[in-house]
Amino acid sequence: MATVRGNPTAWDSFYGTGRWQRLRRHQLRVHPLCKFCLSRAIVTVANVVDHVTRHRGDWNAFVTGELQSLCDLCHKSTKRQIELWGYRNDIGLDGLPTDPKHPFNRAR
Ligand SMILES: [Zn+2]
Repeated sequence: MATVRGNPTAWDSFYGTGRWQRLRRHQLRVHPLCKFCLSRAIVTVANVVDHVTRHRGDWNAFVTGELQSLCDLCHKSTKRQIELWGYRNDIGLDGLPTDPKHPFNRAR
């Protein structure tokens, strides 16, 4: 059963449902590569299906919210950064932050 940062949460049981298993399988079939790695021109097989927006235990948000495929590392690092700061810190090949929500890009 899935846990969040080592602590069981009220919505752990969501991940055991057939509905979620189907959503997860479909997401990884349609988007088998890590979205964040791809944006850095790195090809990594995704093994985590992540909710773009936190569902906070809301079943409707859990099953209808937008999903993205990530690798384990991006889920634990980049995704966490987005939740804490609201943007990614990746730098593109042009030397500029790639995330439109990065303060540098918002200031332009
Ligand atoms: Zn990744």
